[in-house]
Amino acid sequence: MEYKYELHCHTGAVSRCGRVEPEKIVEMYVEAGYNGIVVTDHYSPMTFPIHRLACPQKAADFYLSGYRRMKAAAPEGFTVLLGMELRHYWTANDYLIYGVTEDFVKDTGNLMNVWEPRIKALCEQNGFLIYQAHPFRVGIRRTDPKNIDGVEVYNGKTDDRRNAQALAWAKERQADGLRLRFSHPGAFGKGRNYY
Ligand SMILES: [Zn+2]
Repeated sequence: MEYKYELHCHTGAVSRCGRVEPEKIVEMYVEAGYNGIVVTDHYSPMTFPIHRLACPQKAADFYLSGYRRMKAAAPEGFTVLLGMELRHYWTANDYLIYGVTEDFVKDTGNLMNVWEPRIKALCEQNGFLIYQAHPFRVGIRRTDPKNIDGVEVYNGKTDDRRNAQALAWAKERQADGLRLRFSHPGAFGKGRNYY
C-alpha cells in the first residue's frame, strides 16, 4: 500500500508566507488524492515577535491554530499531523521537524534559542525526525549532518538547479556513512517520498 503525504506545508493562519487558509488546504489535498499532510508552520522570529512571546500559552495556541483547524476540517481517512519548520534567531536556516506533539510545543519554551546540537538531542529524546529544509537556497548554511536526520531535496519554491544540488549533497553525505535520510516530496499529482 502506498501513501501520499505532503511533508512541508504552511497555513495562512500562522505563517506569514502562507496564502491559503487551513480548511481550503485540506480541500485541495483531498481533491489531489493525498492521504494526508504534515502541517509545518514556521516556528520563527517572524511568527513569534516579542509581544506574542510575552504570553507563552497564547503563543503556543496561536502556533497550533493552523494545525487544529486543519485537523477539524479533515474528512475521515485524511490524516493531519503536526510538524514544524524551525528557524533560530539570526540565521536563515530552516529545519523541518516531524513527530512534534501539542504538548511539546506548549511545554518546551522558546525553541528559537535552542541551538542545533541541542535540538537534535531533543528530537532524539522525543522520537522526532529533523530534516534541513532547502539547503541550497541563498543565505543558507549547510548544517553539520550530525545535527540532522535528513535533507529536503525537493522543495516546490526552490528552482531545479538548487534542488539538484540538495540531492547531490544528501547523496554525498550518505556515502560518507552518515545517518542521513532525505525526502523527495513532489508537486501535486506526482508526489512521492524516496529514501
Ligand atoms: Zn517552509
